[in-house]
Amino acid sequence: MEENHRKVIILGTGPAGYTAAIYAARANLKPMIITGPQKGGQLTTTTEVENFPGFSKGIDGNVLMNEMEQQALRFETEIVFGEITAVDLTRRPFKVTAGSQIYTCDALIIATGASARYLGLESETRFKNRGVSACATCDGFFYKGQKVAVLGGGDTALEEASYLTNFCEKVYLVHRRDELRGSKAMQERVFKNEKIDIVWDSVVEEVIGDDAKGMTDLAVKNVKTGEIKRLGTTGMFVAIGHTPNTKVFKGMLEMDPNNYLVTRSGSTKTSVEGVFACGDVADSKYRQAVTAAGTGCMAAIDAERWLAEQV
Ligand code: NAP
Repeated sequence: MEENHRKVIILGTGPAGYTAAIYAARANLKPMIITGPQKGGQLTTTTEVENFPGFSKGIDGNVLMNEMEQQALRFETEIVFGEITAVDLTRRPFKVTAGSQIYTCDALIIATGASARYLGLESETRFKNRGVSACATCDGFFYKGQKVAVLGGGDTALEEASYLTNFCEKVYLVHRRDELRGSKAMQERVFKNEKIDIVWDSVVEEVIGDDAKGMTDLAVKNVKTGEIKRLGTTGMFVAIGHTPNTKVFKGMLEMDPNNYLVTRSGSTKTSVEGVFACGDVADSKYRQAVTAAGTGCMAAIDAERWLAEQV
């Protein structure tokens, strides 16, 4: 049991987890980081990252995450491949189960991120990153002068539709009902924007394209009339919500109504002393690689200070 004990364990290998590892390792805490099911996190599913400071020509998402991993390894972070299946935060040391292994730690940093929800259509999967995206801030720029569609009627969809009008010729907001869910203020902005057309009562029938060109068109179906029409869009931004990866912490940590971890204002402290949360798992608002990295740094500093106070 003793050899499976670490001062700090970090869960998740997105920008938050790796940044926490770099800071914790440089503070000589010899952290262990458990990768999670998708090593490198959400950025490995995007292509070019153009808004991470320090890369004036942009950087491939996978390359960026490999660099972060190498930087964490350079300072002797221990990487464990696997997914956690259970945690016990009711007493210290905290217990983390990953596969057949049980690890214990004095401080736990949770950076398990969030997963974008997709429709689940086969044609949607086929054109992921080749027309289909779940992040307008990451990929919108590539659709300069083109027509795109945004799916959803919540604040994210409204915000992404408005944002995309900075580059795109036309933005179709495709919503399955005849009323938007997003805030009134955001709705007003969308209604006033001449570049946005709302396609009410409609769902995606098929993402159309070919292997050479990627997505070339979008077929949507009116759920009231059954009519199918083509929008002529070369991009589709799915904005039907994110799911924070917090299932395993249910009942143990305070969460908001959407299951995001709640942290104390201005810190990464969760409702359990010694457990810290950073990145998208505790952020439904900004959800950027750079903000995740920033809170990852905060979590490592918070953990280091908290550990120092325990002696
Ligand atoms: P959301 O509020 O849950 O909205 C999701 C939207 O996607 C809804 O309009 C929903 O339709 C639609 N949808 C869900 N599943 C679908 C499916 N299978 N097919 C078609 N449409 C589907 O999610 P969100 O917009 O990501 O927002 C999440 C939270 O973050 C909210 O509390 C939001 O207020 C907040 N947020 C705030 C800001 C801000 O303050 N600036 C920005 C972004 C997000 P229905 O309406 O029919 O259910």
